[in-house]
Amino acid sequence: MIDKEALKQKYAEERDKRLRPDGNAQYIQIKDQWAHYLEDPYVPVTPRDPLTDHVTVAFIGGGFAGLVTGARLKEAGVDDVRIIEKGGDFGGTWYWNRYPGAQCDTASFVYMPLLEETNHMPSEKYAHAAEILEHSQRIGKQFGLYDNALFHTEVTDLEWDESRSRWIIRTNRGDEFTAQFVAMGTGPLHVPKLPGLEGIEDFKGHSYHTSRWDYGYTGGDPNGAPMDKLADKRVAIIGTGATAVQCVPHLARACKELYVFQRTPSSVDVRGNKPTDPQWFAEMATPGWQQRWLENFTQIQTGLVMPEVDLVQDGWTDLAHRMRTKIMQLPPEEFTFENMMAAFEDSDFEKMSEIRARVDEIVEDHDTAQGLKAWYRQLCKRPCFHDEYLQAFNEPSTTLVDTDGKGVERITEKGVVVAGKEYEVDCIIYSTGFEVGTEYSRRNGYDMKGRDGQKLSELWANEGMRTKHGIHVHGFPNLFVVQLSQGANLVSNVPHNYTESGRTIATIVKHAVENGHQEVEVTKEAQDAWMELLLSGPRLGVIGSTECTPGYYNNEGQPAEGSGPDWFLGYPTGAAAYFEYLEAWRTKGDFAGLEFR
Ligand code: NDP
Repeated sequence: MIDKEALKQKYAEERDKRLRPDGNAQYIQIKDQWAHYLEDPYVPVTPRDPLTDHVTVAFIGGGFAGLVTGARLKEAGVDDVRIIEKGGDFGGTWYWNRYPGAQCDTASFVYMPLLEETNHMPSEKYAHAAEILEHSQRIGKQFGLYDNALFHTEVTDLEWDESRSRWIIRTNRGDEFTAQFVAMGTGPLHVPKLPGLEGIEDFKGHSYHTSRWDYGYTGGDPNGAPMDKLADKRVAIIGTGATAVQCVPHLARACKELYVFQRTPSSVDVRGNKPTDPQWFAEMATPGWQQRWLENFTQIQTGLVMPEVDLVQDGWTDLAHRMRTKIMQLPPEEFTFENMMAAFEDSDFEKMSEIRARVDEIVEDHDTAQGLKAWYRQLCKRPCFHDEYLQAFNEPSTTLVDTDGKGVERITEKGVVVAGKEYEVDCIIYSTGFEVGTEYSRRNGYDMKGRDGQKLSELWANEGMRTKHGIHVHGFPNLFVVQLSQGANLVSNVPHNYTESGRTIATIVKHAVENGHQEVEVTKEAQDAWMELLLSGPRLGVIGSTECTPGYYNNEGQPAEGSGPDWFLGYPTGAAAYFEYLEAWRTKGDFAGLEFR
């Protein structure tokens, strides 16, 4: 029997321990003296001449958002598409994150976009990073997106030219070209950050961030070859989020000594990965299969009607099943919003108790096991799933250094200090995540200027992020934002948000081009009405709640500024309903809320 009140109190105590007034400011922005942490270790930068031409559509970002939108545009007959990407190839997060063990946390069949179009069978239920990077390249090749792409290129300036109804795009490679339409999918997690620790600049050993894995130092490769150069090395990894959970088992096998510095444990549930059976896939993958899987996955988590079958069957759908079962047991007169929320909380308590019990089952050392238990609701932080992470702490080489919520105290020339004790190491790996709650324009590296020179940063600093469908911003004609909030807001399968946005954008651009329109813009009234609709809905999610332990999901526990407050605002009746709504909006063809000129 779970003592709910005691648990709630424990969760609150653990959160309070971690709350700190500096929030996002606790981290170092990687630039200037830290800029080497951003260098591309994978593909050399090749010289090229600056461009001064014109394209119909420029897309900023060559990750899944750019790839799926580019593909949909090409399918719609809009051929003149240029993707601008800061990495040396397509892939976005999968270009940068090549750390050992990097893997898709959402089932490949719903996570990897355009599988049916590219005729690709994912090799595993949860594909590894190398396969996902290759799939990104496959999409790029199949849809001709390499032809006009600019790699190792960062947009530095984006400005609306009213007189010509064009966007002017300037880059760090000296380009200055124009585009009739600009779309941007710069991703939620593309700017790595370092912890602002005293003495961090003093460390004399080797160090790098997980999103720029240094295989030159560790040996091995992104395909899983063992990191043979670590056999005589003492290594510290700072951070225990989703990235660390995946790479720690590999480090534990490779290093002479591994110290895992933990501030807050992740919840680590069963992974249950398995290779795809080609015969099963051949029988299952009948026309329209991926759309059916996508809809099924989203419907189970957020739909009003539960599908009869659960195609994906994983940790994401499990929580939804438990919650529904509890709700369905309620007598009709008790079927209230409050009781639904209580059912959600009860399922969560159960789930997290099981996850904590799993730690005791797996981890042999009692104190280590205690340290690895997560005391918060499952969706307060990114849920993790792994079948080797907890086991890694049974390796004699591996030590958990739990900081009891305080974090690393400081860095010295020789290593890492916690509670006054110095751990001498040869290498520090920063698994400390990415900027999320910082200003949108800071993360993008440019501050776009729309109509009348209005800067997006200033607009959103004044009134928070405001869009229609999470895609259109009034005052910024011919601009499309591809991201997940203020639309479906589906965190368990981010690419699903992108594929739907890609369809929408392609439909709008095709319509504009075919009808000779120079401009398309959301009206202020339509944007206001959309925001009103979103704000009228219940905040169903735990995600972003101030009751949660701090992290990037809730702006490090601090009130958000500027673009922050509405980051987790979604369609009131959930993602499944949003996708249905959006499809109907597209199909109707009157593009309600948009003005074509
Ligand atoms: P996170 O932001 O999740 O984790 C950063 C870690 O660094 C946290 O454990 C944080 O602790 C810790 N940390 C920060 N400062 C200190 C300090 N001073 N001392 C000790 N520890 C510190 O980054 P990740 O890279 O792990 O993951 C980011 C996101 O990327 C995930 O949430 C997920 O969305 C995505 N991802 C997805 C994967 C997939 O399979 N699809 C795989 C990997 C990542 P604290 O929690 O206390 O702040």
